[in-house]
Amino acid sequence: MAKPKPKTARGKTVAKKAAKSARKTVARKAATRTAAKKVAVKKKAAARKPAAKKPAVRKAAPKTTTAQKGAAQKGAAQKGKLVYGFGDGRAEGRANMRELLGGKGANLAEMANLGLPVPPGFTITTEVCTGYYDNGKKYPKDLQAQVDAALVKVEKLVGAKFGDAKMPLLVSVRSGARASMPGMMDTVLNLGLNDTTVEALARQSGNERFAWDSYRRFIQMYSDVVLGVGHEHFEELLEMHKEDHGLTLDTELKAEDWKHLVGAYKKRVQQELGKPFPQDVRDQLWGAIGAVFSSWMNQRAITYRALNHIPASWGTAVNVQAMVFGNMGETSCTGVAFTRDPSTGEKIYYGEYLINAQGEDVVAGIRTPQQLTKTSRLAVGNQLPSMEESMPATFRQLVAVFQKLEKHYRDMQDIEFTVQQGKLWMLQTRSGKRTAKAAIKIAVDMVKEKLIRQAEAVERIDPASLDQLLHPTPDPKAPRKVVAKGLAASPGAASGKVVFLADEAEKMAQKGEAVILCRIETSPEDIHGMHAAKGILTARGGTTSHAAVVARGMGRPCVSGAGGIRIDYAAGRMTAGDLVISKGDVITIDGSTGEVIMGLMPMIEPQMSGDFGLLMGWADKLRKLKVRTNAETPADAETAVRFGCEGIGLCRTEHMFFDADRITAVREMILSDSVDGRKKALAKILPMQRDDFASLFKIMAGRPVTIRLLDPPLHEFLPHTDADFDAVARGTGLSVTALKERKKALEETNPMLGHRGCRLGISYPEIYEMQARAIFEAAVAVSKAGGKPVEPEVMIPLVATKAEIDILKRRVDAVAAAVFKEQGRKVKYLVGTMIELPRAALRAADIAQTAEFFSFGTNDLTQTTLGISRDDAALFMEDYLKAGIFERDPFVTIDQAGVGELITLATQRGRSVRKDIKLGICGEHGGDPSSVRFCHNAGLDYVSCSPYRVPIARLAAAQAAISDEKASEA
Ligand code: PEP
Ligand code: MG
Repeated sequence: MAKPKPKTARGKTVAKKAAKSARKTVARKAATRTAAKKVAVKKKAAARKPAAKKPAVRKAAPKTTTAQKGAAQKGAAQKGKLVYGFGDGRAEGRANMRELLGGKGANLAEMANLGLPVPPGFTITTEVCTGYYDNGKKYPKDLQAQVDAALVKVEKLVGAKFGDAKMPLLVSVRSGARASMPGMMDTVLNLGLNDTTVEALARQSGNERFAWDSYRRFIQMYSDVVLGVGHEHFEELLEMHKEDHGLTLDTELKAEDWKHLVGAYKKRVQQELGKPFPQDVRDQLWGAIGAVFSSWMNQRAITYRALNHIPASWGTAVNVQAMVFGNMGETSCTGVAFTRDPSTGEKIYYGEYLINAQGEDVVAGIRTPQQLTKTSRLAVGNQLPSMEESMPATFRQLVAVFQKLEKHYRDMQDIEFTVQQGKLWMLQTRSGKRTAKAAIKIAVDMVKEKLIRQAEAVERIDPASLDQLLHPTPDPKAPRKVVAKGLAASPGAASGKVVFLADEAEKMAQKGEAVILCRIETSPEDIHGMHAAKGILTARGGTTSHAAVVARGMGRPCVSGAGGIRIDYAAGRMTAGDLVISKGDVITIDGSTGEVIMGLMPMIEPQMSGDFGLLMGWADKLRKLKVRTNAETPADAETAVRFGCEGIGLCRTEHMFFDADRITAVREMILSDSVDGRKKALAKILPMQRDDFASLFKIMAGRPVTIRLLDPPLHEFLPHTDADFDAVARGTGLSVTALKERKKALEETNPMLGHRGCRLGISYPEIYEMQARAIFEAAVAVSKAGGKPVEPEVMIPLVATKAEIDILKRRVDAVAAAVFKEQGRKVKYLVGTMIELPRAALRAADIAQTAEFFSFGTNDLTQTTLGISRDDAALFMEDYLKAGIFERDPFVTIDQAGVGELITLATQRGRSVRKDIKLGICGEHGGDPSSVRFCHNAGLDYVSCSPYRVPIARLAAAQAAISDEKASEA
């Protein structure tokens, strides 16, 4: 391994920053950590009417468009109203107006309506923002008058006047979009201060130092946000002043120091802009409003929206609110609180506060915050008093507010507050972000507390977040050195020694070593190495590449398509930028984030808590879709049963061909030049396949098992090394030269569209016949042994025409009849097909005359519909997502408009000729929550996914049923 580089100046800055950020409030850290995971906005599912009988397709009720939703919102709002006031126990808005008022504005209004102490203010609507961008950054005519009128109301409530030389009103100006976008947009505090009002503030507060400190903070913030004169200018002046006067801490600066700095700050603004810092408070206000609207389009906000699927058309609201000060001495403070623990869900008040500070001090991490409660103070060993101890009366008031808000919103709240000279003020409330573990505990507890119903609890859990509970994850508190990033292809994380060859992986694993198999890309012959490895890393390939699909099936973490990694098999090393990683070096891969990390990471093991099981039970009662699994090994099948699967939806039989003890027989079968030679080799494989199927049938104990006959092109199984060729030559009696020629003859230019799937069955009947025999013999054997009834579903892949399935079904039926006769026992079985080609979807009515079930193979169906290779898509998918051509990667989330239409069509056409045709999906989309929702709406019977996604699919299916139910009630 390459030596670590010497620490650079940049390294130090990063370290400093990390230390600083580590001091930030726990609350904010939790919010940011979960923000990336959480799908910011849950789209409402397309609703469908309930059907007395099973409909051909679950009917989608007309979708509510954004425009319609907007119209409904306007209906609730007053026409032409651009500004909504709040304060003094009243508000013009409500919590359900978040589309118009943004989350912050709507909740401030709601808190005011609840009679909570909210500093008076007003919200300029998101429509003004949208109009501002639609009309060349111009405001509507009425806005100024409405803002003026709202400001007068605030002045009356506060008893102060904006810009007044005696009793000046100061305000904060903050953004507030419909979905929370923490820290992405701009805020200005202490607005309304100028050379005159600062004197009044000093007199009024009796605290000159506080007044001048507030003024310098305002100049710095306003200049940075509105005037484009960055923080660094003011930080430099402050540092210089401190140095000149032998001061170290900000708290050592007196009123005179701040006064001096205000002068220096204003001078710097004049130098930078060629004009003075604005003294007119109305100019200040409009400057800040404009800056907040502009910040909707800053790069940070744009990136955040793209990552969280938030449309630019939503716009942000602007909240202007009377200032309250947490920095007015020792009886003032500012804090952040959660009504329950956002990491564990425990019912405790959780949060931090800072005495004599403004909100920005908490966020900036300049001072270490103190705990809210005595219990949490003792738990972290903080010597400084908790709020419960230092301000007991105010703390009691705060607790009463927590209880009122939780009861009202029926959810855990994330709250910001300020205490100004002993008086409590609420600045924000919103549903708190939380880990999956906390989400489950909170939802289950709230059902027990009778705050919410079971269906609401089920709805509140983000299905994708369950991943966090099903796999080990790197300890988030441990430092991590990320050296490359790829696709989060299979969740969980693993640490181990780097190996590049599957055989090596197997050998080292046999010696008890943890290994990470690193390949440019994997192929089916790497299966044993993948199985032996703790995790898989590939430099190429998408989320439906071989590595990704197989790893998910096996429950192995996988990072695929890590483009920054270059692998040199011959040299036994790989590079990530300048870093050289050699065979035997330890790395960690995090398949939930796509990170490749240098060294060993401490892991947190998954916990299947009682609450998790309880919630999944509620979900099962609600869902209509069945959930099966994609599995071919007993271990996978057992895992899936533990996770609640209701059968196997896809057993890829080729994965059973690769075990070291059978690959030679498979190669003999492929390379034989005669039917007899092939049959001889197949006879060796038959008993092994039969045993495989028998063990799956036993594990599934009466649940349906869909077995797919051989699918991939034969050349994937061919020998590579001389030793491989020698072994096949011995078995077949053919010369190595003849075998090499035969191998060459099997090579294809485009194997994905080549001699694979049912085309193999057509060319080599004996292969499918052997597999069918193995299936029926196993089924009979298990049923003779007294096991639960077995009903195999024999699945033919890559069918395009009715003629193909006709021929192949006839052969399968003939084998079944022969086996049943030989064994003197029959079992029920079905023969069906995968729908993986657009032609098969279009001709579903023909195919359903023969096929008794359809399973949508959406990996291939996506590939063949879009004409994009599933293995190469990662090379340019990012560009397509950035350009907005695709909203989501279509190999992860079904392309509803294209592939989805084919599924809907095939469903209708299939059912039109065979009413009870069984319909399922077994592509990777079967475990993707929004695709599961689509499958529910399309009227499929089941989804099938890798074992570790079974709970995710169960929950997503329940959520689809709940929103469906709601839509039909509406
Ligand atoms: C599919 O194409 O969706 C499918 C399940 O088959 P495979 O991934 O094995 O091609
Ligand atoms: Mg396929």
